[in-house]
Amino acid sequence: MKDRILIIEDEEKIARFIELELIHEGYEVGKCADGRTGLEMAEGGDFSLVLLDIMLPELNGLEVLRRLRRSSDVPVIMLTARDAVMDKVAGLDQGADDYITKPFAIEELLARIRLVLRRRSGGGHEAAPVTPDDQLSCGELTLSESRHEVKYAGNEIDLTGREFDLLNTLLINKNIVLSRDQLLGKVWGYDYMGETNVVDVYVRYLRSKIDEVYGISLIQTVRGVGYVIRDGNEQ
Ligand code: CA
Repeated sequence: MKDRILIIEDEEKIARFIELELIHEGYEVGKCADGRTGLEMAEGGDFSLVLLDIMLPELNGLEVLRRLRRSSDVPVIMLTARDAVMDKVAGLDQGADDYITKPFAIEELLARIRLVLRRRSGGGHEAAPVTPDDQLSCGELTLSESRHEVKYAGNEIDLTGREFDLLNTLLINKNIVLSRDQLLGKVWGYDYMGETNVVDVYVRYLRSKIDEVYGISLIQTVRGVGYVIRDGNEQ
């Protein structure tokens, strides 16, 4: 069953950005922009986790948390402004599970969400189904889509959903050079409205997690064209 996450955040751009990333990671998402509605949704919505901004109209985040804790122990991650130390202390005092300071890298938020959910579910991992036939590989690198797992020489590599999709797309098209536009379309969708250099940014993330760690050059840049993974690249 999918985990449902509630975003209570009045800054529409931030809320929308988090929403898209969470949906991409496979979560179901609820969203609202004021404290009073947020409290109602959190109390009644059967959510696995709440992301709660502090500066909110109607009821502030600390007050939402205080009232929510009367009836619910749903995990809460507070979104705090930079240097608002008192807010963090107050939030943790009132039963927040974690906090993250804005602005944050989405990878950090996703990692904290996974951690809080894992902690809350008793630390158990669900057994992964064994389907060896869906595995893609290049040299020592293997990727299993069904298990959402990437390994190099047997060592697991922790990727975000977007990084995984980009690597998956490059491996599916092994030995074929894909342009940035093609990668944008396949990985981000053709309605993607963000920065066009996002492909380069994510290639850099993958290289820092794979190439730099294992001393290989897996993803090759084809100047003026795009990117490719070729058999033999990994040597
Ligand atoms: Ca706010």
